[in-house]
Amino acid sequence: MAMTPQDVLALCRERDIKAIDFRFMDFPGLWQHFCIPVGKLDEALFEEGLGFDGSSIRGWQAINESDMLLVPDPETAFVDPFAHMPTMVIICNVQDPITREDYTRDPRNIARKGVNYLRSTGIADTCFIGPEAEFFVFDDIRFDSRPEGSYYLIDSAEAEWNRGADEGPNLGHKIRHKEGYFPCPPADTLFDIRNEMMQTMIECGMDVEAAHHEVATAGQCEIDLRFDELVSMGDKICKYKYIIKNVAHRHGKSATFMPKPLFSDNGSGMHCHISLWKGGEPLFAGNGYAGLSEMALYALGGILKHAPALLALTNPTTNSYKRLVPGFEAPVNLAYSQRNRSASCRIPMYSPSPKAKRIEFRCPDPSCNPYLAFTALMMAALDGIQNKIDPGEPLDKDIYDLSPEELADVPSTPPSLEAALEALAKDHEFLLRGDVFTEDVISTWISYKMKNEVKVLALRPHPHEFCMYY
Ligand code: GLU
Ligand code: MG
Ligand code: MG
Repeated sequence: MAMTPQDVLALCRERDIKAIDFRFMDFPGLWQHFCIPVGKLDEALFEEGLGFDGSSIRGWQAINESDMLLVPDPETAFVDPFAHMPTMVIICNVQDPITREDYTRDPRNIARKGVNYLRSTGIADTCFIGPEAEFFVFDDIRFDSRPEGSYYLIDSAEAEWNRGADEGPNLGHKIRHKEGYFPCPPADTLFDIRNEMMQTMIECGMDVEAAHHEVATAGQCEIDLRFDELVSMGDKICKYKYIIKNVAHRHGKSATFMPKPLFSDNGSGMHCHISLWKGGEPLFAGNGYAGLSEMALYALGGILKHAPALLALTNPTTNSYKRLVPGFEAPVNLAYSQRNRSASCRIPMYSPSPKAKRIEFRCPDPSCNPYLAFTALMMAALDGIQNKIDPGEPLDKDIYDLSPEELADVPSTPPSLEAALEALAKDHEFLLRGDVFTEDVISTWISYKMKNEVKVLALRPHPHEFCMYY
């Protein structure tokens, strides 16, 4: 049930809310907030919005044009499960205060424009996204975040196995290397915390399908949400990360969505299931390969064709490319298959129902900005449909077992963020349609990532360089 401003005000009275917290996503993908006393919220504010200075938000306005407006979307309101004082959270859209136009670099606006563009094509009216985000929960993470810092240390209860029993008795029940999926407690020490995360999500209006330990030995988890419409799923991933980080924090632990925090163990992906619907009917089910429609096969063609550029948005950190290597269930080759989890696109065969027919794109990881990643994925699929892009033959063998000759024709994921950004610089026409992503958004993304992440890392001595060269 969609909430109106009146509903939000009534809910505030009913729940004795004292504070209203406005949330929005910065350009790279971190939730930002600021708060007003509940007495300052009235119906007019949902129209007029609230001014703030956009110049300090990463990747946004120059200082000379920094006044911006936050316009709360009443449909997104929920009671904050962590604030001590009863607080209502409302997700906002960002506008220019003079023109009242939606801000082109607001990630949520890009997602809203993407859905409007989808409708304008007449191809479909709804894009469903089902993300499977993975994450790690650690006991102790120390790093020096000063500009000159380069030292870090990670620790986890389950990593105790490697450490021996020098910090108290070692009671065994340790998860063996790569066997985290998924023995019962006491080996699974995160059972209760995950359930608390799951329950908190449900209380915040999210539909949770399942929660489990993941393959990596040291505290890797997954909590799956039921698929939802693209913009709403972007909102949900913001809430998802907020809840996971805060429940972990409440237990004196820390959660991370960094894709590859541990060398030689599995990384964290965020496989994204995508399907298009029109008038309540699924468009991806048919009589083609793996029960796909012709439209779905073309969508696959678009995703595979644009994958190198797409990854600059779905795998947007330097660390993302340490996950995309052979041997850890992460995709390294750009191919599709109905059973093969080593292919970057998989067609899940769990259910014969046409409503369940979808494409699973396995490349994305949870370090992405979900609004940008989901929208770019949909735009690549749409380009495939509009231009009837042939996805080629499926690859049903285990790609990890193919000989170099057999692999020669299978393109690979880009080796680095820099390579993905270069691919995006060359291939982004498909993102510009309907003004969804603008040239400014693409060039700002590329220069932001190059300057603040790629170069910053390349200039620093790495801890492992001390090991190799000191
Ligand atoms: N952790 C794996 C990845 O990096 C995925 C494991 C799974 O299939 O759920 O994509
Ligand atoms: Mg998983
Ligand atoms: Mg999956």
